Amino acid sequence: EAKHEAYGLEKVVQHAHARTRGDLTGALATYIPELARVDPERFGIALVSVGGEVVGVGDVEVPFTIQSISKALAYCLALEAAGRDRVLAHVGVEPSGDAFNAIVFDPHTNRPYNPMVNAGAITVSGLLAQALGAEAFDVLLDRFSAAAGRKLGFDEAVYRSEAETGHRNRGIAHLLKNAGALEADVDATLDLYFRQCSILVTASDLARMGATLASIGENPLTGATVFAVEAVRGTLSVMFTCGMYDFAGNWAFDVGVPAKSGVGGGILGVVNRQLGIGTYSPRLDTKGNSVRGIAAFRELAEELGLHIFDPT
Ligand code: GLU
Repeated sequence: EAKHEAYGLEKVVQHAHARTRGDLTGALATYIPELARVDPERFGIALVSVGGEVVGVGDVEVPFTIQSISKALAYCLALEAAGRDRVLAHVGVEPSGDAFNAIVFDPHTNRPYNPMVNAGAITVSGLLAQALGAEAFDVLLDRFSAAAGRKLGFDEAVYRSEAETGHRNRGIAHLLKNAGALEADVDATLDLYFRQCSILVTASDLARMGATLASIGENPLTGATVFAVEAVRGTLSVMFTCGMYDFAGNWAFDVGVPAKSGVGGGILGVVNRQLGIGTYSPRLDTKGNSVRGIAAFRELAEELGLHIFDPT
């Protein structure tokens, strides 16, 4: 029997929230004004089990932009829409140890290291733009919505700001085009990338998305089949090795579950075949990860024995 059933999941989550809420270190993302304006005090932890148990403590219904967490789900969709071979020919699966927005490609392949750094994610958006055409964003939003089990919206102001100020991402896209990693139109690719980053989610949504991945593509609350099994396997693999920016190794060591964070303050975690976990707290550490999100995951991993290599 899983430990969480014996302990009572709700109590464990309340305890994790109470133990970590006092950490007010870190700072809001400020690269666009919209992110600098959010309420820094918000903090929520949500869990959804593959059996359909739902637990939420704190600000689990506060919307925020998904940002880089979109990279994981977009990769899953690309593995399906463009096919595994085509995706692997354009984006690697090696952790880079570099910051998320590094302008560096794998020297052996001249391809981005992995789909969790911006260069790789922009290439994935290009594959989706090519495979799905003008409908790409609608298809992506529908699929993200199916994973969350409700119709998701999108933050127009964040999208506009990202598109107006995203010069580094534009630079990366042009270099990708030059290297041959990106075949799609640069502007269409970036438009999809900026839009997918601006999708609005809550911690509850992230937990439900995580539970969909945990139950290998089937949303346990709606019963909908959202992602193909092989695509989920590939996605969880890169989340495990590359999902937490240049903190991914530490995360794998301490917390030990596939996860993806975003500069909006969210973290999505997946305990394979067991749980989806979503946290929201917008103060970030210097690597761009939510401070209290990491702390909460550490607590939960410890209390519930979530680490992939835990003996029980
Ligand atoms: N829109 C942001 C960017 O591409 C996302 C960054 C992130 O969440 O890591 O720079």
